[in-house]
Amino acid sequence: MATNGSAPLVFRLHENTPEVVREVLLERGWEEYDPHEQVEGDWNLYWRTSAFRNFEYENILPWQRLNHHPKMTRIARKDYLARNLRRMRGTYGAALYGFSPTAFILPNDYIKFLEVYTKTRVENAGKPGYWICKPVDLSRGRGIFIFDDIKHLAYNSHVIVQKYISNPLLISGYKFDLRIYVCVKSFCPLTIYMHQEGLVRFATEKYNLASLDNLFSHLTNTSINKFGPFYTTDKERVGQGCKWTLSKFRSFLHSQGINELLLWQKINNIVTLTLLTMASSIPSSPNCLELFGFDILIDSNLKPWLLEVNYSPALSLDCPADIVVKKGVINDLIDLMNYRKVDGLRQRGCLRRRHKRTCCLGSPSSQRKSLAAFLIPKSVSGKKRQRQSSLNSLHAENLVCPSVERSVNSLGSTLHPACQNSKTIIVSGNKKKSPLQVEGPTCWSELEESFEDHRDIIRRCSSHACRLPAIHAPKYKPPRFSWDQGTHEMTTPSLRVGDFILTFPFNEATWKASQDTLDVKTVLHEVHQLMSQLTFSCVHKEKRRKENNDSSAAIKNKFASLLWGPRNPPLLSEYCSSS
Ligand code: ADP
Repeated sequence: MATNGSAPLVFRLHENTPEVVREVLLERGWEEYDPHEQVEGDWNLYWRTSAFRNFEYENILPWQRLNHHPKMTRIARKDYLARNLRRMRGTYGAALYGFSPTAFILPNDYIKFLEVYTKTRVENAGKPGYWICKPVDLSRGRGIFIFDDIKHLAYNSHVIVQKYISNPLLISGYKFDLRIYVCVKSFCPLTIYMHQEGLVRFATEKYNLASLDNLFSHLTNTSINKFGPFYTTDKERVGQGCKWTLSKFRSFLHSQGINELLLWQKINNIVTLTLLTMASSIPSSPNCLELFGFDILIDSNLKPWLLEVNYSPALSLDCPADIVVKKGVINDLIDLMNYRKVDGLRQRGCLRRRHKRTCCLGSPSSQRKSLAAFLIPKSVSGKKRQRQSSLNSLHAENLVCPSVERSVNSLGSTLHPACQNSKTIIVSGNKKKSPLQVEGPTCWSELEESFEDHRDIIRRCSSHACRLPAIHAPKYKPPRFSWDQGTHEMTTPSLRVGDFILTFPFNEATWKASQDTLDVKTVLHEVHQLMSQLTFSCVHKEKRRKENNDSSAAIKNKFASLLWGPRNPPLLSEYCSSS
């Protein structure tokens, strides 16, 4: 989306960036950064598959966004994840943190592993159970093997050995796992969105514990299964290839009478609880966001297990399901980045307004330095001059400073021109108002109150480009929030952006607990309470459904509009309080 057609936004791709990212951005009217033609820093989005370096965070400019937060390996590397989850499980108990299979980091934990292995064998009449060994820093199934006898455990690098979930839920005999797309918009305050669409990734040979070395039966990685002999075969129920969309999976669950919403909420909790393990150690970096791929395996008791977290989930397009899901995810991710008109101006906006950067990681001195370096003029090409003259015509008073992204991003959405004449406009052109002031609810209850009206607004804006719901309907009081006055009142994040649904914070208590210093105990208490309420509601309603079949449709509808599937789901708290 070029902002209102006036100033194309510019993206910069690092080598190896999946082609679909370029495709989506070009479709939205963006231009690609050309280092030979454009001046340094003259871009709005830098997308890398690998991590950014420190100086890239330090030198970030107000109109720029990066697709990674710093220090993401803390969660993504298998050994770090295992260690973090083990620590949280030790502190807060298995009732909350019992969603990841027991894991040992070898060689360090070899003795501990041996103890557990031996104990299991004694308890199970000589059967030690099944284990899976994975190199800590490889992906796409590389170097993974499954074993049930320690004599087969061999490794020459750091690995984790994890309890193998040997009773996976199967579809027509095939194992599968879920790839859930999660966007962390901010770690401080923690703000998590989960995408309603995702992928189901199948093994391409029937599950069989008698052949542990058959990777096509035990691993669900596409990178492995697309080379399997049955990849193109039309497999019973699964079909050709090895992927479904999450929507298709939901239909399957419905057909089996499985309560998908309880399952989905458990997955929500896994995501939140996992991100809590490291959220407070990530430096604040409002110009960054992170797309994670959470791999979830469901066992035959419908318990979801976290297998791993990917910080650069695969975005290659191998099949129709990939195209639908991944393009949608990238589009919605760009919407979450909340670009505004002024971002199209880049260095020009910077020169005019001479605003200070308030949103980067660098020290004030490094900020000044990088800004000064950036302002040194370079020769401007003809094409560029043309673009800049068109930028001149933009009225400066209409611009909202992107450097206060914390306030702006957490509140608003950029609207398609078609929506901009409606009452849903959220960026005010009011000249009396400071460009830093934005309208929106200032507390969770206001947000909840207003949600009904937003649904109407969303329904009216039905085109793809208008998908961002405006949280600020006209009836809302202007916020007390003012960056200038240095007050620390916080604003609430959008409930939904495209198909990304806000899953954390999920009520007023978690919202408050995530401001300033993250209050993990309160958050855990709320997660626990929510889960108990939801479980109780589900059991209770299931009982009622059996007693009275007539009411089942209504109940189902209420459930169905809870978290996934619907375009305008109610808040979880709304559901729980009325149940
Ligand atoms: P990679 O990063 O190499 O993809 P994963 O941890 O995602 O490593 O494991 C690859 C695949 O192996 C998973 O998609 C899943 O099918 C299977 N797998 C991994 N861990 C387990 C486990 N503990 N129990 C059952 N299956 C597992």
